[in-house]
Amino acid sequence: RFGSTATARFLTDHDKLIDSVETFIFDCDGVIWRGDTLIDGAAETLDMLRAKGKQLVFVTNNSTKSRKQCRKKFEALGVNVLEEEIFSSSFAAAAYLKSINFPSNKKVYIIGEAGIQLELKQAGINYLGGPEDGDKKIDLSPGQVMEHDPDVAAVVVGFDRHVNYYKLQYATRCLRENPGCMFIATNCDAGIHLTESQEWAGAGTMVGAIKGSTKKEPLVVGKPSTFMMDHVASKFNIKTSQLCMVGDRLETDILFGQNGGCATLLVLSGVTTLEALQSDENKIQPDYYTNKISDLLAAKKV
Ligand code: PLP
Ligand code: CA
Repeated sequence: RFGSTATARFLTDHDKLIDSVETFIFDCDGVIWRGDTLIDGAAETLDMLRAKGKQLVFVTNNSTKSRKQCRKKFEALGVNVLEEEIFSSSFAAAAYLKSINFPSNKKVYIIGEAGIQLELKQAGINYLGGPEDGDKKIDLSPGQVMEHDPDVAAVVVGFDRHVNYYKLQYATRCLRENPGCMFIATNCDAGIHLTESQEWAGAGTMVGAIKGSTKKEPLVVGKPSTFMMDHVASKFNIKTSQLCMVGDRLETDILFGQNGGCATLLVLSGVTTLEALQSDENKIQPDYYTNKISDLLAAKKV
């Protein structure tokens, strides 16, 4: 049905796509909003899809916010969504640890921001690190060693604007010294749009640092990993063949959809240009592409 090797087609038959899909998974930044600005027509498009009885799900690689905080952002932009419809990579880290019955006497060390802490707390998982270690300095005087907690059984790494040498050394020690300590990455985005005008170093920066010091590969729970897709599909009891993933980034969103066996729609309202999509170097072809999600409003009214 939806081939991943064929060249992406500009979406013209909106009704056919909408009718063939039960659930739309939307990426957030670049699709629903850009930074703190709602993308034109996004709210109306979501309303139209809901009116047609579609289930809507929102999947973001942004780990700095919890689901609750994400919902607040939607609300501030005038879009009504339920917390249960939001799957952030911070939530995915907590959901993954819960799914493997992370022991209650063990702890997680966090390189990341408040979103990861809030989600771990909600899941009843003990943690240390994160923002609290943002100001910590290292004493490198002769003979000095860094002590670390032997009960840390997982290190979760996400985007962290206060990453420092203390956190990098602490995480490295846990992964090297604590037997079986897991290395979990919320996501590995190379660049993100913290501002409209420039791309900024993303969570791949922090994950890459720990890969470099430990020579270990992380388990990625955000896009494009199948963990989040399987979680969404089982939560709503849907087959991935009835899903359509809508996103602006080829190597996270579109690959995420393809890894999950979904239909994929690329929107050009975010990081991917038409030139990049059509370049010979690009090996990731969505089923369809369009300019922005409000193009779906061309579908017939209910
Ligand atoms: N990570 C961070 C810290 C971000 O700020 C963003 C976008 O704003 C992303 C990841 C990418 O988010 P999304 O998956 O919604 O495009
Ligand atoms: Ca995006």
